Amino acid sequence: MAAATPPLQGKIAIVTGAGSGIGRAAALRLAAAGAHVGLLGRDVSSLQAVSRVIEQAGARATVAQADVTDRAAVDAAVAEIAKLGPPTLLINNAGAGRSAPFDRMTVDDWNAMLAVNLTGVFHVTQAVLPHLLAAGGGRIVNVASAAGLKGYPYIAAYAAAKHGVVGLTRALAVELAGRNITVNAVCPGYVDTPMTQATLKNIVQKTGRDMNAAREMIESFSPQKRLFDPDEVAATIVYLCSPDAHGINGQAIAICGGELAV
Ligand code: NAP
Repeated sequence: MAAATPPLQGKIAIVTGAGSGIGRAAALRLAAAGAHVGLLGRDVSSLQAVSRVIEQAGARATVAQADVTDRAAVDAAVAEIAKLGPPTLLINNAGAGRSAPFDRMTVDDWNAMLAVNLTGVFHVTQAVLPHLLAAGGGRIVNVASAAGLKGYPYIAAYAAAKHGVVGLTRALAVELAGRNITVNAVCPGYVDTPMTQATLKNIVQKTGRDMNAAREMIESFSPQKRLFDPDEVAATIVYLCSPDAHGINGQAIAICGGELAV
């Protein structure tokens, strides 16, 4: 029997925040599924490192630097990737978390969380959408969070931004359904990435717990009592980009081991 063609062969994908964590894992999996992956982020050296891993595995990647809060930089990076052909898969993954009790949160903290986590998704989606429309369809997957579906203490701005991403996902899914585009969100619980390592250090610093106790504390949010692997989030992202997932649209898929079982 001839080897099966990879499901995303010939597709061009864009992954924001592709230099680490979930974005890196998604880029590697998209490339393994046959896509040429545009790696977008601020730190070029980490994007180049991911690109090297993809190319060593015989797949293709292109690095494009942009801060997702800077519309002109996003437009230029997307135009650079689109020279390869129209991108039809977009993974809006770039994000950042900052915690503070609400009464001590400054308006700068608030604006910074909305800018990167919500307005960044707006910028990149607006820059990429004309290519999906011109190509006759595509897939958008937004990396929201369990904090886009429920509240947690001390992250009001992050949670508000991620709830906004879920709302944007649902609205765009309906608006673009007739254009052969699906828009979905993945909503992970705590994932073992540099962002969570920073959260753990912050808990140690603020509470005096040791690292193991801090880790147990955040593991206890999930009924599975564990952190999630970036690769299991990436697997869901790639599935949502696959032909088999065409009927899944406007969904916010929780990946948190039952924390959001309702
Ligand atoms: P991470 O390893 O810190 O990755 C975040 C990525 O976003 C980095 O590659 C960073 O790269 C990029 N980024 C940050 N600000 C950016 C900006 N202004 N412009 C462009 N890129 C930017 O953390 P992660 O856990 O993989 O996070 C990925 C996504 O998952 C985020 O949206 C996060 O909110 C979400 N999430 C994470 C968890 C978790 O527990 N870790 C849970 C739920 C959801 P540069 O610094 O190079 O720009």
